[in-house]
Amino acid sequence: MTVGVVGAGMSGLALVHALRKQGKDVRAYEARADPGGIMRSRQIDGHVVELGPQRLRLTPSLETLIDDLELYPQLRLGADDQPLYIFYDGELRVVPLSARELLTTDLLSVGGKLRLLKEPLTESSRPGETVDEFLVRKFGPQAARRFFGPLYSGLYGTETTDMLMEYSLGRAIENAGIDGSIVVAVLRKLLSGRETPPICTFDDGLGVLSNALYERHADVISLETPVTAINPVDEGYELVTDDGTDVVDDVVVTTPAGTSADLLESVDADLSETLRRFNYNPIAVVFLESPFDRDGIGTLVPSTEPSQISGLTWNASFLDRDEVFTCYIDPGRCPNMTERSDSDLESVAASEFERITGAPAEPLGIHRWDPGMPAYDRSWTAMDDIDLPNGIHLCSNYVGRPGIPGRVRNANRLADELATAE
Ligand SMILES: Cc1cc2nc3c(=O)[nH]c(=O)nc-3n(C[C@H](O)[C@H](O)[C@H](O)COP(=O)(O)OP(=O)(O)OC[C@H]3O[C@@H](n4cnc5c(N)ncnc54)[C@H](O)[C@@H]3O)c2cc1C
Repeated sequence: MTVGVVGAGMSGLALVHALRKQGKDVRAYEARADPGGIMRSRQIDGHVVELGPQRLRLTPSLETLIDDLELYPQLRLGADDQPLYIFYDGELRVVPLSARELLTTDLLSVGGKLRLLKEPLTESSRPGETVDEFLVRKFGPQAARRFFGPLYSGLYGTETTDMLMEYSLGRAIENAGIDGSIVVAVLRKLLSGRETPPICTFDDGLGVLSNALYERHADVISLETPVTAINPVDEGYELVTDDGTDVVDDVVVTTPAGTSADLLESVDADLSETLRRFNYNPIAVVFLESPFDRDGIGTLVPSTEPSQISGLTWNASFLDRDEVFTCYIDPGRCPNMTERSDSDLESVAASEFERITGAPAEPLGIHRWDPGMPAYDRSWTAMDDIDLPNGIHLCSNYVGRPGIPGRVRNANRLADELATAE
């Protein structure tokens, strides 16, 4: 059995690795000249910057991958005991992620803190409920709108009022095995001593991992080889590229939904139409250099603040990256961002950084993603209509958890399925 993999981002690379570990015959095709998709690092003026993910959680499946690729000597653990901040009402305030921070934070009033204690008495999510309705009902409006909401929606650039529980946070809660009170589940976890996997990166950035995966499997991955069509044939599927056609038994499509829709048009027009419904939010990532030296992981900027940025990652502090900070701009905050020039967005990022932290900043560069993050908005009801023909599989961030650990787990699971199906 031969498996054809379209795309060599982290989903495709992890899948090629997992399939080959199981002894499968696999061929992968990547449109760009570099592997890694969204997960890519650059050096600018001697600084390591990340175009997409800034850091990973060192989960067991990532540990196995790092071990297989002998990357432990380059692994760098982050200081995840540092606080996360929210810029609320013109001030940087600590997001209460521990009992001590909850007692001391000035983000919530005493009433807002006491309201959290009622959470165990509230019901689980209701059909049709939005993330905003759920969080307000569970934790009260202060905690819901001042930090839980921004903490969740900030990842995707979508307002919590546009996210349905069933297709977003509800799935994450279910995957975490929480079936009742969230507060009780968190307390149980703390008491059991189970630790959250540490934050990590590599000395030269996360691109070390995608490059190492590519190098290990370069003999079966063709770069600069976009797949232009997937056609059903008697023996399986034909993958068309400018270099010719290859016939494979199974195809795994790891590209964003819109590209997947184009590629699968001649396989199944209904599937293609369903895939076109998924929305993504574009995002601009601006790299900044600043002497700001407070400890912290980053700053969330909720949409209620009059700001054109949605957040900052403090790479300098928790990843020990010399004076580097990363700023995010999305259309929710800066509606005309796609028409604005790079230098304009760099200036926005630097001036907002200065306003929020009080320290000067110089832009080092910018990268734009379009499509960027899956939006997990109401368009995700399309998930219910995905019906895959035999031999076609989707392994991409819009059908599963978008974080890199989730991508690796998804790839490992699919590799197991393909191996046992043979
Ligand atoms: C700004 C940003 C910050 C993020 N931060 C984090 C973070 O801190 N931690 C974390 O865990 N996750 C983070 N994520 C999420 C994570 O990076 C992505 O979900 C993940 O990298 C997606 O990987 P993928 O392989 O599924 O998709 P992609 O990376 O999009 O890979 C798809 C690949 O397919 C290729 N391709 C497209 N068309 C074709 C074609 N026709 N033929 C062949 N190849 C094709 C593309 O070039 C690409 O390489 C972030 C995402 C973004 C956008």
